[in-house]
Amino acid sequence: MGIAIISPGRDVTVWVENIKKLDQKISIQVYPDISDEKEVQAVILWQHPKGILSKFPNLKLICSMGAGVDHILSDESIPQYLPITRIVDGKLTFSMTNYVIMGVLNFHRQIDRYQKDKKRKVWDMSNPEIPITVGIMGVGELGGDVIEKLQFMNIPVAGFGNSPKENLEYPYFDKTKIDEFLASVNVLVCMLPLTAETEGILNIELFRRCNKGTYLINVARGRHLVEEDLLTALDEGFLSGALLDVFHQEPLPPSHPFWDREEITITPHIASVTNPEAASPQIVENYHRMLKHEPLINQIDRIKGY
Ligand code: NDP
Repeated sequence: MGIAIISPGRDVTVWVENIKKLDQKISIQVYPDISDEKEVQAVILWQHPKGILSKFPNLKLICSMGAGVDHILSDESIPQYLPITRIVDGKLTFSMTNYVIMGVLNFHRQIDRYQKDKKRKVWDMSNPEIPITVGIMGVGELGGDVIEKLQFMNIPVAGFGNSPKENLEYPYFDKTKIDEFLASVNVLVCMLPLTAETEGILNIELFRRCNKGTYLINVARGRHLVEEDLLTALDEGFLSGALLDVFHQEPLPPSHPFWDREEITITPHIASVTNPEAASPQIVENYHRMLKHEPLINQIDRIKGY
């Protein structure tokens, strides 16, 4: 009995090596070379072909290769009883926090402006800092760390989340208080999981409720953003710019209008990439827990979708 890794188009050799290092006895099959479906008790998934899991009659555990599980839950053929786990890892958090802080500081210290000035050989010392309050949408594993580090830097913050929370050391707004949240910030960072509720949350109705000139950072998922609404919000001045790491279609097609907008900075979904060496131990741990019928770590709530 063992594991199947299903991540089409990706070289998963390093995953196989790391899992084998932790437990030589686990048999690992890699899609599409799966010779014995009955052997598979756990799958490790990234962008799997929808419906494929029905081929594994003894499947008991689904592990996401990353922090998000939207790529798994979008497969409606997956039975409700199968537990799904995700990656929670210090290195993933470290990279994400650094990326977001880089974006926040670039806006606050106006790096784009000085790059343009340099091209025109302009020396302009006026207004060197844009005052900021950073609003983090989704204060979970990743967003919570960003808030903590920004607070350490004395940068004003506000958090936004699903459920009410008390005794936090920063202003926090649950989803019923989104207008108050938006009114209190001028940098908006989307760190939400992609669920039925959050898909398309970054839309023109929301942008028009933002302070004029708000800067958007989206590191969560492309489908949180209604892409044409970003262009409208930039044209209307509700947003002054955006740093985007995720897109509806990845790689972003050459014909996409975002490439030609000066106010939009693009990175190719690299904000925080799962490190197989760091992630493999929790997958192997969960595999052993599944065999012993013990509670899993980093299991998501199928009802909430994250
Ligand atoms: P968590 O599950 O730890 O946190 C999710 C947060 O979002 C929680 O605070 C939750 O609120 C909040 N939330 C969920 N639904 C809603 C809603 N409807 N309205 C308001 N708030 C909501 O997730 P992580 O921090 O680990 O990861 C977040 C996402 O980041 C991942 O799902 C993934 O898509 C993305 N990601 C992107 C990467 C990249 O390289 N670009 C890399 C890694 C992750 P509550 O606390 O009340 O439950």
